[in-house]
Amino acid sequence: MFNVILFGAPGSGKGTQSQKIVEKYHLKHVSTGDLLRSEIAGGTQLGMEAKKFMDGGLLVPDEVVIGMIDSTINSNKDAKGFLFDGFPRTAVQAEKLDELLEQHNAEINIVLALEVSEEELVKRLLERGKTSGRSDDADETVIRSRIEEYRKKTAVVAGHYQQLNKVKTSPGEGTIDAIFASLSTEIDQVIS
Ligand code: ADP
Repeated sequence: MFNVILFGAPGSGKGTQSQKIVEKYHLKHVSTGDLLRSEIAGGTQLGMEAKKFMDGGLLVPDEVVIGMIDSTINSNKDAKGFLFDGFPRTAVQAEKLDELLEQHNAEINIVLALEVSEEELVKRLLERGKTSGRSDDADETVIRSRIEEYRKKTAVVAGHYQQLNKVKTSPGEGTIDAIFASLSTEIDQVIS
C-alpha cells in the first residue's frame, strides 16, 4: 500500500488537491470532515454528537474519528493505498493511525504539507461559505476558532512525521494546477 497524508490548515486546499491526487495515483480518499458531514446528514447518534463540536469550530473527540478511520481501513483492505485528508489532526490520532496501518503491514509513506498564510485562509473560507452550505464557513468567529485549533493541536502532527523524515512542504498559493504539479513531484520522488 502507498499511503499519503495531505496536511494543511482549514482552507489550505486539501479537498481540491485530494481529488486530483486520488485520481492520478488511484488511492482511496478518506476525509474525516466528509465522513462526519455524512453522519450528520444521516442523522446518526455519532453525527449529532460531532455536530456540537463542528459548529463551534472545535475538533471532534479523538475516539470518534479514530473509530471511523478504523472501520474505513478495514472495509477497504484491497485499496492500493489511502489519501488521508483532514486526519490525523492530533498527536493521539497520528499515533493511532500508525498502529492501525501497522496491523495491515503498511505505513504512511509521505506527508504533503500545504502552506498558506492566515489572511488567505480566512478569505478563502469566507468565500467558500457563500456557496458551500457549510455553516462553519459562514461565520468568521468559527473560522478563526478552526485556525486556532489547527495551531494548538494539529501543527504538532507535522512534528511527529518530521521526526520520521516524511514531511514535504509545498506552497498552497498559486494556481490549482501549479500546486498539484509540485505535490505530484514530491509523490513521484518517494514512489521511484
Ligand atoms: P476544514 O479543514 O476546512 O476545517 P474539514 O471538513 O476537514 O474542514 O473539517 C470540518 C470539521 O470537522 C472540523 O472543524 C472538526 O470539527 C471536524 N473534524 C474533521 N476531521 C477531524 C479530525 N481528524 N479530528 C477531529 N475533528 C475533525
